[in-house]
Order: sequence, then C-alpha cells, then structure tokens
Amino acid sequence: MSAERAPRGAPAGGRQSEIAVAGGKRLKIVLFTGYACNNNCRFCIDAGKRGLPQKTTAALLREVMRARNRGADILEIIGGEATIRPDFTGLVAAAKRLGIKDVLCATNGRVFADPEAARRIVDSGIDALIFSVHGPDARVHDGLTRVPGSFAQLRKGLANLRALGFRSLNGNTTVVRQNMASLPRLARFYARNGVENVEYIFVDPTYGGARSGFSGLVPRISEAAPYMRKALAAGRAEGLYRWKARYVPLCHFTDCLDQISEVNERSLFRTEHWAPDFTNPDAVASRAVVSRRKTARCRGCLLYRDCEGIWTEYLRRYGDSELRPVLKLRGEDAARLKLAKSGRRRGRR
Ligand code: SF4
Repeated sequence: MSAERAPRGAPAGGRQSEIAVAGGKRLKIVLFTGYACNNNCRFCIDAGKRGLPQKTTAALLREVMRARNRGADILEIIGGEATIRPDFTGLVAAAKRLGIKDVLCATNGRVFADPEAARRIVDSGIDALIFSVHGPDARVHDGLTRVPGSFAQLRKGLANLRALGFRSLNGNTTVVRQNMASLPRLARFYARNGVENVEYIFVDPTYGGARSGFSGLVPRISEAAPYMRKALAAGRAEGLYRWKARYVPLCHFTDCLDQISEVNERSLFRTEHWAPDFTNPDAVASRAVVSRRKTARCRGCLLYRDCEGIWTEYLRRYGDSELRPVLKLRGEDAARLKLAKSGRRRGRR
C-alpha cells in the first residue's frame, strides 16, 4: 500500500514490455487518471499540474488492459482525485474482470460521504482504499486541504464504508510543519477507526506546493521525526505493526527500522508509474537518481546501503547537519532491519 509519487522528470519508460520483474517481486502499477482534484492541499506535489488534460476513459481502459498483460499484481488508481470521475467504478470493475488481484485507490475520502457513492464503489470490486488524512480534526486537516468540511466528509466516508462492511481501509498522512505535533493524536484517530496500514510520509519538496512554499511547510527532520516515531509507537501499543514512516533518513528511526516503507518495498515490489505527463518504469530506483541524496556526512554509516538519505531539495535549503552516521546498532535494531529486508514483519497483525 502506498500513495507515493514518482518524481517528475524521472526516467521515461519507452520499452516497458521488455522489463522483467526481478526476484519474484510483486509488480505494482500506479495508474494516474489525471490531476483534477476536489481538494486543494497546500503541499500537493501536483499543485502546478491541475490544468493538464484528464486521461480519457478509453485511454484508461487500454492502460488497465496493458497492466493486466504486463502481469500487474497490484493496480493503484490515483489522481488528483480519481473517485470524482464518473468512470471510476467502471475502471475498477474492468480491472477486476480482467483478473488483477489487488485493485486499490488512494483518495481524499470525500466522495464516500455520500452513502450511494460509497456503495457503488464497494460494489465495483475495489480491494482496498487508502484515505489521505492530514490531521486529527477539522482545524488541522481542513487547514491543509483548504476545503472547509473536507474532514467531516472524510469521517462520514469512513463510517459509511464501515457500515457497508468494507474493512480494507488504509491511511496516509503527509507530514508537514502544520500537523507534525498532532501526529500522536492522529495515530489515536487511525487506531480508533481500525486502520491497520498507515504511512506517515515526510513531505516531498521536489515539486509542487511544498517546493514553492518550502519554508512554511517543510519541517526540519529532527523536529518531525520524534512525532513520527511517537505515532508509530502508538500503533505498536495497539498491536498495529504495519504502520510505517516513508521518505525519511534512517538515522532518525533506528528503533523502528522495520517500519520504514523504503526498506522493505525494495524487496517486495517493483513499482511503475503511468501518469498523463510521464512514465516511470522503476519509481523506487528513480528516487535515488532524481530526488534523494546521501552526503559526505554519511560516510561510514552502518545503514548507508539501506538508506535513501533525504530530499535533495531539503539539503539545498537546510543543509545536511541533521544527518548523523550510525556507527553502532543495537542487536534488536539490527534484527528488525533484517526482518524488514526479508519482507517479513513483527507482531501479530
Ligand atoms: S547518516 Fe546518511 S546514510 Fe546514515 S542513516 Fe543518516 S542519512 Fe542515511
């Protein structure tokens, strides 16, 4: 599960049919429908792309078929906000008819406030939904989405889905200055709603809103990491071991190395992004090329090979003084890292 995005300008994929999916990894194709959205999130990486044309239904159906022919195990349909399209349920149903095992959608959740829309989407055969929740209350969440009422609609959407018996609910949260101190409270919100997979995503300032509004939005990692780790710990206390942090330097997370998305996604998935304006045949590999860096400070760090460093744009603005090479790793931390790299996880859930 993920709503992670490829950097714009990532390697173009002109010859995808020749790419073998190596090492028994699951092939995940992230299918972007377009960038239209009914929210207006301050940090949105696609903030500058709203005016680009939406993909047509016919084009998307062709891509669904192509995904099946490529052997996709997972098809994640995203926007913008894909659920506002009239053809959304038809796309999901087509993917399921073609036999794609897991069809997911990352959503701001507002459409699900309408019980009929929620029912239609569940009936289309969607396997899992990833709700983007950016605060534990309307003040924080709506302040970031810039749509009054968006938090209330999201909550209603969650309740409607639960009433329909739909249980495959996941969460993701973009971590910015405005919500980092609320993460422990947000963790309680997720736990109360029984959300078993959550990602706390350190904001990506490579493009879009977080780049243009960098100083107002992007926290120092040394300030954000303690709140992110508290949120992960709150999940563990409830037996929710699948919660993860994403896009973080590992030196700030040594006690939860099995809960970092980048560590185990490399061994579990190969991820392709098919967007209206770019194709990225390996979203994981391209991050290292395009948008994240380690620096000379990382020399000698025991986690060097497993770590992607931090955003290049972050280094340009804030420098690398917060990176702290790990020269010793406790036995239990090393064991958790090994566990994550094997694709297994601790805990009963
Ligand atoms: S010091 Fe560098 S390589 Fe080591 S964990 Fe931190 S960012 Fe990663």
